[in-house]
Amino acid sequence: MHQTSNFLHIEHIGIAVQDLAEANERYTRLLGTAPYKSETVESQGVTTSFFMVGPNKIELLQGLSPESPISKFIANRGEGIHHIAYAVADIKVEMERLRAEGFRLLSDAPSPGADNKLICFVHPKDANGTLTELCQEQNL
Ligand code: ZN
Repeated sequence: MHQTSNFLHIEHIGIAVQDLAEANERYTRLLGTAPYKSETVESQGVTTSFFMVGPNKIELLQGLSPESPISKFIANRGEGIHHIAYAVADIKVEMERLRAEGFRLLSDAPSPGADNKLICFVHPKDANGTLTELCQEQNL
């Protein structure tokens, strides 16, 4: 049995860090490559950087203030894996489908994220403890 999924692939894994400059330096040594992009997304309360690992991406996120969701995550659970992001073909269609399936979404509409994406999050309690991001490449 094969169902066609609107989920295309894992787009990136997000890691919450306390100090992005320090983490950039550490991950550059760990992965043997420097971040290809750094970006602040005020609307999400984060500053981020992205590393390419073969076809995969790692996103490091630091909160811009103690009220930022990333800072709160770190205060509660410490640094570490924060979310898994899936690329989807059509984020609005997927949000509608997931809502109909009973998943709680953290926003009513997709919002602009880092790396030229439209994003939304599925409540971690509805995904076995893992914050789940949907993202769709924005057309320029
Ligand atoms: Zn992300």
